[in-house]
Amino acid sequence: MEKRELLYEGKAKKLFTTDDKDLVISEFKDDLTAFNGLKKSSETGKGALNNKISTELFKLLEANGIQTHFVKMLDDNHMLHKKVDVILIEVIVRNIATGSLSKNLGIEDGKVLPFTLVEFDYKNDALGDPKLNDQHALILGLVEFQDELDKIRRMARQINDILRPYFADKGLNLVDFKLEFGKDSSGNIILVDEISPDNCRFWDAKTGEKMDKDRFRQGLGGLKVAYEEVLNRILGK
Ligand code: 5GP
Repeated sequence: MEKRELLYEGKAKKLFTTDDKDLVISEFKDDLTAFNGLKKSSETGKGALNNKISTELFKLLEANGIQTHFVKMLDDNHMLHKKVDVILIEVIVRNIATGSLSKNLGIEDGKVLPFTLVEFDYKNDALGDPKLNDQHALILGLVEFQDELDKIRRMARQINDILRPYFADKGLNLVDFKLEFGKDSSGNIILVDEISPDNCRFWDAKTGEKMDKDRFRQGLGGLKVAYEEVLNRILGK
């Protein structure tokens, strides 16, 4: 399957049409952005690492009954997946308080939450991805019905229930992550986008070391080494 026309260029990926109207190709870029695009950089090899990590995690989720857009990894930087209508909600799942949750609500950084928190952000760069409640999402028409929001929340929790123990086994705490969902050609809500250290926080269970994009956001350096370590642990190396 080959790339045809560029459909869309995002911050971390380019999306191309293919000969099949139901399938598209994502090209994972080496670019890094943070703080709504104010901080920018690039790290050679980052895109390939995220493609490989996402591929493994989509396969794991599919094997555990989660429907995703994943079809196959084509090469280092390219993934073939289903074409969907993306739902403009960023679904944030949190097991441990940090980042914007600690900043906004004053919850101590590193506190294990009494239960897993699922939040919705409006996927809208111009507005800075503001928080949404269910009524906001319905008023904005991001989905049509409340039961779609319920389904998204249920899937997000199921995904956490699969990923959290999976990473714990590999010595990584899954602190929080961002998911995106879309509707496939039959109207099913499925998991889309990527699952990688660009949109998950991983802390080493022993040392507490950050193994994710916070290394870039916080200017800690060593981003590629950390992403490679995440991939190696997934692959059991
Ligand atoms: P926070 O709200 O604390 O900044 O982020 C919570 C989690 O969601 C983190 O794992 C972070 O990586 C992810 N996240 C939230 N918003 C975005 C976003 O716009 N892009 C990416 N790549 N990840 C996000």
